[in-house]
Amino acid sequence: MKNRAVFLDRDGVINSLLYHDDKGIYSASDMGEFEVLEGVREAIHEIKGMGFLAIVVSNQPGVAFGYIKKEDLKKIDEYMRRELGIDAVYNCVHHPKYTGDCDCRKPKSGLLLKAADEYDIDLDASYMVGDLLSDILAGKVCKKTIMVSKVNCALCKFIQEKDAEPDFFAEDLLGAVKIIKKTEGKQNENLC
Ligand SMILES: [Mg+2]
Repeated sequence: MKNRAVFLDRDGVINSLLYHDDKGIYSASDMGEFEVLEGVREAIHEIKGMGFLAIVVSNQPGVAFGYIKKEDLKKIDEYMRRELGIDAVYNCVHHPKYTGDCDCRKPKSGLLLKAADEYDIDLDASYMVGDLLSDILAGKVCKKTIMVSKVNCALCKFIQEKDAEPDFFAEDLLGAVKIIKKTEGKQNENLC
């Protein structure tokens, strides 16, 4: 039997987004800025308890821009594996302006397809959780997509216009896990 996965976007799902007057909203560039959001450890524990792999799929164009060092990105990856129980991390470190086109930058599904190949994952039995439309579009190769957002109402109309409607909305990763549990529970009921 193939593996199942819950694919997780990183910034805004696992760790908090940051704000700086000059930079605007930005993501952690090193461990000093990496703040794990409340409930994330428990959520990942539950994901794994349900038998899913927990795999991070993240755009990190800061590497292409030059403000994120590859060593610092690696330290965050290692931390997520060691301390949060993440099974694997796939980063896209490209940006069209600096490194040309690639197949992995979300909204493309390349990171998920690569993980599926390397970890023998059944995408039709897997989930994608993210906080941006690009996550939802990339996750369309999965069974279900869940958007983690506290501003979902304002986004709904725009999402429909973009044909990027997620299957579900959740407030945070723990909320997303509850939805996955419910969806899987219903599926099992149908099988009985
Ligand atoms: Mg994000």
